[in-house]
Amino acid sequence: MKHLCFNCEQADMVRGKKDMAVEYRGNKITIIAVDGRHYPECGDSEFSRGEGERYAVAVEQHREAIDKQESAKLARIRKKLKLSQKQAAAIAGGR
Ligand SMILES: [Zn+2]
Repeated sequence: MKHLCFNCEQADMVRGKKDMAVEYRGNKITIIAVDGRHYPECGDSEFSRGEGERYAVAVEQHREAIDKQESAKLARIRKKLKLSQKQAAAIAGGR
């Protein structure tokens, strides 16, 4: 029996582990060996039990790390330019 992709309904699914790349604000990480069904055509995946959670946690940690880096960078720039927090926030778009 063929397992067609729920998304593109074409490729036969491949059961196994695959490294999955995730990008957030231009920073890429790879979540290693995600277990599940992977569709070669469109790149969609169905996670095995527990893998969706592991994936979500990894993505969340990645985003937090990037956000932390960004605010640290902003703090450095602010110091360099001797801007007040309010001025810096205005430049950064209210963040
Ligand atoms: Zn597909």
